[in-house]
Amino acid sequence: MSDLADTLLATARRRYLPIYRPRELILDRGEGSRVWDTAGRDYIDLAAGIAVNALGHAHPQLREALIEQSGKLWHTSNVFYSAPPVLLADELAEASGFAERVFLCNSGAEANEAAIKLARRHAAARGRGPDQRVIVTFRGSFHGRTLATLTATAQPKYQEGFEPLPGGFRYVDFNSVEGFDAAFDADVCAVLVEPIQGEGGVMPVAPGFLQHLRRRCDETGALLMLDEIQCGMGRSGRLFASNWDEVQPDTISLAKALGGGFPIGALLVGARAAETMGFGSHGTTFGGNPLAAAVARVALRILNSPELLANVEQRGAQLLAGLASINAELDLFSEVRGRGLMQGAVLHARYAARAGEVLDAAAGHGLLMLQAGVGVLRFVPALNIREDELAEGLLRLQRALRSVFV
Ligand code: PLP
Repeated sequence: MSDLADTLLATARRRYLPIYRPRELILDRGEGSRVWDTAGRDYIDLAAGIAVNALGHAHPQLREALIEQSGKLWHTSNVFYSAPPVLLADELAEASGFAERVFLCNSGAEANEAAIKLARRHAAARGRGPDQRVIVTFRGSFHGRTLATLTATAQPKYQEGFEPLPGGFRYVDFNSVEGFDAAFDADVCAVLVEPIQGEGGVMPVAPGFLQHLRRRCDETGALLMLDEIQCGMGRSGRLFASNWDEVQPDTISLAKALGGGFPIGALLVGARAAETMGFGSHGTTFGGNPLAAAVARVALRILNSPELLANVEQRGAQLLAGLASINAELDLFSEVRGRGLMQGAVLHARYAARAGEVLDAAAGHGLLMLQAGVGVLRFVPALNIREDELAEGLLRLQRALRSVFV
């Protein structure tokens, strides 16, 4: 480890709130799906900044958009219009096939927070009192870390010690039609769901489940709100993971890959709730920042192209084949699940507690990767990852797993 890296690591340990436990290295630069640390070691990046760097590092067109916009206008607030966010809102609405209006913000939690407020206002406008503004969410979900979104996140480990939590959420087992039907009544104003649960352990929605939610919401006028913050923007092989189920939602929350690494979030709103939020009902100073919007416009264009989506399918198949071949040798995974380039390899229960060890070993073998839920190795690489980069990543993964388990 270089002196610089040692100094930075010591400073980080001393100065950051100790809420994270990053690997013991300092990343310095990246290109495509390869990253280098300050000591000059290279890594294949199958983490992509937690499903954010969907076009890899230092993508020439994203850089060009950022550099061009940085010489023109950085920020206006929402008191004044500028071109990039207006055009981004229009392009997102067009690409979605359902959205009439768009709220631009800065993160996933902020997009979901807006969705939660919109659902409550929508119910209020229909004459529903505070007790009739319940939002149903699913066990194993993850919706963010603000107080409302961590309450929506139906996992006690994220909530403990932060009580009192906001009320009005009801939790249901993911993919359980019976559980949902038992919890769904006229007091429910919205259902918030990830089409592929990410942090909870890479768990795809069961066939027909989203359609069931849509039907039940239509019966009462409740909103169907999709959190595609992790699984959207092409990661599943379609622009939105819900496109596979042909379900038209009332809202979609986006962030992560939307800016290709530049912080931005968005809430897309369909016709049923498009007029719900009136003047002064919500806002955010940085939302629609021109720098972020200029980059996101280019990211959206590339992520929604047939070539990129075809690469997700091909590389997704390569990833699955690679994991199957590793498993044939080492017998570590009980299953591999997900869609496109969002895959989770579930460690056998006897190895589940050792996922952290795998991540450390991977870093030692030149590979950046993530875990999700309990004992799930999560793979969310850049969607434009090349065949040779992924092959190299799988090779390094195999070496790392051998070092831990053989
Ligand atoms: N929703 C989902 C599905 C996520 O995966 C995440 C982040 O991991 C969030 C919401 C929160 O996004 P952010 O960390 O940008 O607030």
